[in-house]
Amino acid sequence: MALTPRPEVSEVFPNVQQEVARLSALPEIRSAFAWLRAQEPQFAHWQLELARIPAPPFGEAARATWLTGKFRDLGLDDVHNDDVGNVFGSHPGAGESYVALSAHIDTVFPAGTPLNIKQQGSRLYGPGVSDNGAGVTAMLAIAALLRAVRICHALPFVFIGNVGEEGEGDLRGMRHIFSAPRWKDSIAYSLVLDGAGSDTIVAEALGSRRFEVIVRGPGGHSWSDFGAPNPILVLARAIEAFTETPVPSSPKTTFNIGVIRGGTSVNSIPESASMRVDIRSTSMAEMERLEQALRLALDHAVEEESQASQRRGATQRRPFGLSCEVVVIGNRPAGELDSNARILQVIRAVDAQLGNAAQVQRASTDANIPLSLGREAIAIGGGGSGGGAHTLQEWFDCRGRELGLKRVLLTLLALAGVSA
Ligand SMILES: [Zn+2]
Repeated sequence: MALTPRPEVSEVFPNVQQEVARLSALPEIRSAFAWLRAQEPQFAHWQLELARIPAPPFGEAARATWLTGKFRDLGLDDVHNDDVGNVFGSHPGAGESYVALSAHIDTVFPAGTPLNIKQQGSRLYGPGVSDNGAGVTAMLAIAALLRAVRICHALPFVFIGNVGEEGEGDLRGMRHIFSAPRWKDSIAYSLVLDGAGSDTIVAEALGSRRFEVIVRGPGGHSWSDFGAPNPILVLARAIEAFTETPVPSSPKTTFNIGVIRGGTSVNSIPESASMRVDIRSTSMAEMERLEQALRLALDHAVEEESQASQRRGATQRRPFGLSCEVVVIGNRPAGELDSNARILQVIRAVDAQLGNAAQVQRASTDANIPLSLGREAIAIGGGGSGGGAHTLQEWFDCRGRELGLKRVLLTLLALAGVSA
């Protein structure tokens, strides 16, 4: 995920702050904090173990099996996997609806990537060690804590290791959960753990739509078939028109032509050409508008190139037609948390309680799905610090993990409710 700051939200309600202060002073919470501090070697061990199991997009099964075993070992209830490979376990409470704690288990690294995972002092190195080794480890740490220290919370928790967050996974794990009858209306709050750190709160979902555009034509010889409609020229005309579409700076909306391909040789009229287009915004309406502009530009470009081809004197010997196919290769919904949402009040009160400075951000994470449905959701880090995400040089530093875990714990408990 790439983060960009957004303006500060309104102040925390005093009663939420009081509630978080009361929770922090409970004897069981004090022993929970001490327990988390003492368990760091175990957490680092889990993180190394999971990072050594490949989890490429659409190939998360081995890591899901590992996580299912861990959920069982930690005594979670109703441990199971769903149709797409998400892993679930729950911790009981009294209420009907759940507080969800989730972390994606997939990585960006393709199958066959060497996973040279190692530890040097407090630092862990290797692909996926932080994104999302840090998130999954934090989720396991909380599950382990609830077994070691008895804390009664009102709403039950559901722990989710989900598939398909990165790239072409296109949030398919979360999408599946929020369309499943069992979960779609029963998850009241979603706390998404993604990567390292304790200094961000993702409360705004950056949406994206991505397209592969393929234009096909009759092709031909550059000399003898001169005039035949040319798919590369269609793309050139469409790009020219589409990229003139005005975009607002607020809500920030962007477009990019990231890949263009086509043709076989300098003296052939190509039979096909393709391009990949990326559209992003925090506004669904803006993404919709840009998609329409793209489709319109393509329709016009096909029409113009057909007419130009006739003007160039295209011979009628070959089939004349041009066709244009637009394939959606990515679709992440946009959304935004209300600035008075309870989950935002709670995390800000928790940060104030812990003396932690965190900035509200916008990014594309698993939280996009609940946020786009108008549900309360945020994404935060699993503590510690990290860098080099999505590269083979990725690292995670365990120092400061404790703060991140306290933050996750207090937020979950304040959302669920703990009686006096
Ligand atoms: Zn991630």
